[in-house]
Amino acid sequence: MNLILLGAPGAGKGSQAVNLKERYGIPHISTGDAFRSNIAKGTEIGLYAKSFIDKGLLVPDEVVVGIVDARLKEPDCEKGFILDGFPRTVNQAQALDKITAVDLVIDFKVDRATVINRLSGRRSCSCGGTFHISKLDSEYCPVCGKKLYIRDDDKPEVIEERLKVYEETTAPVADYYRAQGKLFEVDATRELDEVYRDIVEKLG
Ligand code: AMP
Repeated sequence: MNLILLGAPGAGKGSQAVNLKERYGIPHISTGDAFRSNIAKGTEIGLYAKSFIDKGLLVPDEVVVGIVDARLKEPDCEKGFILDGFPRTVNQAQALDKITAVDLVIDFKVDRATVINRLSGRRSCSCGGTFHISKLDSEYCPVCGKKLYIRDDDKPEVIEERLKVYEETTAPVADYYRAQGKLFEVDATRELDEVYRDIVEKLG
């Protein structure tokens, strides 16, 4: 099962991916996580990507496509994958079509105010967990106990830019897949378990 999770930053794609990965036994591939791990390790790709990420801009297509292409060739992707945060441009979607066949694209629909609230209240952990400040009672990760942090690109001025990039560049990707009859829209303003139920009902 080759799945894509599409939607604005903060729509809940990463949170759903954690459960979907367990249920279907296929890897969760987040291009944002791949960049953050490269940044943490200080690699050349990480340094290059950071200059875009910190401004809320997209990393150039050829860099992202190269990373995804290499990752999809790894053996754990043979039974399928969950792509989270890729493709983000129509050009990336076209490149992906040349690499492999996509089965379904889940489009997380969420309004601007919800996104701003979620991103500005998001606290992240190096273990991969993300939490909303309203549901935390300390500054430590409820899963692993490490200190939580605010992603540089979750700061207010960067959030605005990311949303602009999403509306102008990534939203058309939904039309690309709609035209292929592969788009499944979910109302992602709801609680995580409700969104998950809809997705599982669709996937079986
Ligand atoms: P995310 O964690 O998915 O919100 O990604 C964080 C940042 O990484 C984005 O704001 C972009 O700067 C960069 N990024 C992640 N995925 C892509 C992609 N498919 N194309 C271009 N840039 C990306």
